[in-house]
Amino acid sequence: MDKYIISACLLGLRTRYDGTDKNRKKIMKKYGMNLVPVCPEQLGGLSTPREPADIITTNKKKKLLTRETKTDVTGNFKKGALETLMICKRLNIRKAILKSESPSCGIGGITYDLLKKNNIEIIIEN
Ligand code: SF4
Repeated sequence: MDKYIISACLLGLRTRYDGTDKNRKKIMKKYGMNLVPVCPEQLGGLSTPREPADIITTNKKKKLLTRETKTDVTGNFKKGALETLMICKRLNIRKAILKSESPSCGIGGITYDLLKKNNIEIIIEN
């Protein structure tokens, strides 16, 4: 069976901005040991818990600002996306299961966009 990169929070790892997970037991049951968990935001150097960030699009360019302090974390999000792509390449993984509604993993998120651009087949959790 093919291996899949999976958003770590979907496997029950508490990687979300508020220190919680989004455990989807059904995914684990279906794909079992073929899942490789990654959290792009952690890979980008952000701590957990962390301030949530939102995508701001200007002239088709995406920028990430934290919700309260408006800190620019675009570099962290880009680094996390690149690290995730690197893991796919090193392990020869061509498929990913990603969490919805996340500025990294969700549709239009920074990691989602980069993986898609590099022809990784993406399944969104729902
Ligand atoms: Fe989950 Fe992705 Fe957010 Fe990490 S960046 S907590 S893997 S949705």
